[in-house]
Amino acid sequence: MITLKGIAAAPGISIAKAYRIGKEEFLIPKVPIRTEDIPLQLQLFEEALIATRKEIIELQKKIGLDMGQEEAQIFDAHLLVLEDRMLIEEIISRLKKEQINVAYIFSEVLKKYIEVFSKIEDDYLRERTADLNDVGKRILRNLLGKEYKGLKDLKEKAVVVAHDFSPSDTAAMKKEVVVAFITDIGGKTSHTAIMAKSLEIPAVVGTMDATSKIQSGDTLIVDGGMGIVIVNPDEDTLRIYRDQIEKLKGISERFLAVKDLPAVTLDGRNIEIAANIELPSEIPSVKSHGAKGIGLYRTEFFYMNRKDAPTEEEHFQAYKYVASALHPDAVVIRTLDLGGDKFLSQFEMPKEIQPFLGCRAIRFCLARPDVFKVQLRAILRASAFGNLRLMYPMISGIEELQQANAILEECKEELRREGVSFDENIRVGVMIEIPSAAMTADLLSKEADFFSIGTNDLIQYSLAVDRANEKIAYLYEPAHPAVLRMIKNIIDAAHQNNIWVGMCGEMASDEIFALVLLGLGLDEFSLSSLAIPQIKYIIRSVTYAQAKNIANEVLGLSTAKAVETFMQDKLREILH
Ligand code: PEP
Ligand code: MG
Repeated sequence: MITLKGIAAAPGISIAKAYRIGKEEFLIPKVPIRTEDIPLQLQLFEEALIATRKEIIELQKKIGLDMGQEEAQIFDAHLLVLEDRMLIEEIISRLKKEQINVAYIFSEVLKKYIEVFSKIEDDYLRERTADLNDVGKRILRNLLGKEYKGLKDLKEKAVVVAHDFSPSDTAAMKKEVVVAFITDIGGKTSHTAIMAKSLEIPAVVGTMDATSKIQSGDTLIVDGGMGIVIVNPDEDTLRIYRDQIEKLKGISERFLAVKDLPAVTLDGRNIEIAANIELPSEIPSVKSHGAKGIGLYRTEFFYMNRKDAPTEEEHFQAYKYVASALHPDAVVIRTLDLGGDKFLSQFEMPKEIQPFLGCRAIRFCLARPDVFKVQLRAILRASAFGNLRLMYPMISGIEELQQANAILEECKEELRREGVSFDENIRVGVMIEIPSAAMTADLLSKEADFFSIGTNDLIQYSLAVDRANEKIAYLYEPAHPAVLRMIKNIIDAAHQNNIWVGMCGEMASDEIFALVLLGLGLDEFSLSSLAIPQIKYIIRSVTYAQAKNIANEVLGLSTAKAVETFMQDKLREILH
């Protein structure tokens, strides 16, 4: 029995046999050709490009129908590779110069491109190597007249293990047979991880060496929530996990039974339960898990997988769609949070030594009002079609809020002049995710319409722990007394100034903290869809008075460990 640790990409526990997909290797002969054969080789290349284009468009159509337009758009990047003049011209000129068969030349040029891409330091761009690989392999298969089997032969339930999955592979996965998947490489922003969540298939990515440690037929336990894979577990471990699956099933049935009921405490305090989304295609899942509205729409994903930044019209269409789909429930659109660990190729951003402390989010937007205004105008226009709210990320103090609002006013003025309608009373909120904002929440709450606490960043900035660094992950403690005190300060300040306060960081989705957050007076929980039924269940199981007592007791504890143990005990009492 061995345990592999990777990155938790999509939650859930599965136990099944492994189905390992080897790296697809191509044996490409190097064959000299005569000058008179060059036109034929060029024709072969052109036909392979046309066939590949056809395949991708068909796949894109299928994914558009099965999963939604956002996922389908991933393949736009693949189509762009097929039109890449530099790549095509290099192949034609080398073919003419070196007089070697086109399949060989193509594989050499592809290798060179992939090498260059995989060395790029930007995580996002580096992960696009997968796109290049995916489309390159399609072209090679077509050049060599080979058929790709991939997951086609998989008929029985299995955990699929591969070095990496192409977006085409992930999109073709069927939940009925692929009960979980594991990859050697990939990070949280890889398409594989994004798709795994949409498909609700437990997944662990970035294990480094799963393919060398796992053979087809091995028994695997995959815990996608913890990022753990256990290979050939012993009987005791299997029993523990089987029990856990059963327990989770039993519990989740209890939770699911209340998913469409209001989140109201036994003594009548009503809590708003909203969802976090990255892509509009998540809306069906938001609705089916019982959310009322969206508390955080992370719009930066809209800028990904494309060469140019979205136009105002494209922003508008996306936001209008989300606003109408959720109407009359509210949708909080967070303006672009670029920088930190999220970069886009469309904007020139100088490299920084500490990007999380650098030109990120609102700082970037205030420095580039031209980019910011495109999004703000679109949000305002879409506000005429539903209940939209606007929220700025990474506000550090009142001046930034005032500067952002001044730009928003300019946009409103422009639209009025143009005779374009929008919600004149659109509510404008602030994410509280920097300690300076938490400590000046009393000042900010006089000028903001609402707060949403971004604990993912608030914790990293208050405890000085990089949220993406696995070496110091043990110090990333949501239960740290400093974090709890800060949350209390934010909620109290908001309430003193009569504004509501929600939480959209991952802490809100963690069942351990539901009671204490409720007791501290949080008005809204914005959660990943899967967490909604459970958090609702917990809120419906206690009185507000009970939760307040629990919060008071927790605030008296001096270590994160003590807080966690205390909260686990309380939760156990309730879930019993
Ligand atoms: C947060 O920081 O808690 C948050 C919700 O924003 P993000 O994770 O996108 O930084
Ligand atoms: Mg944040």
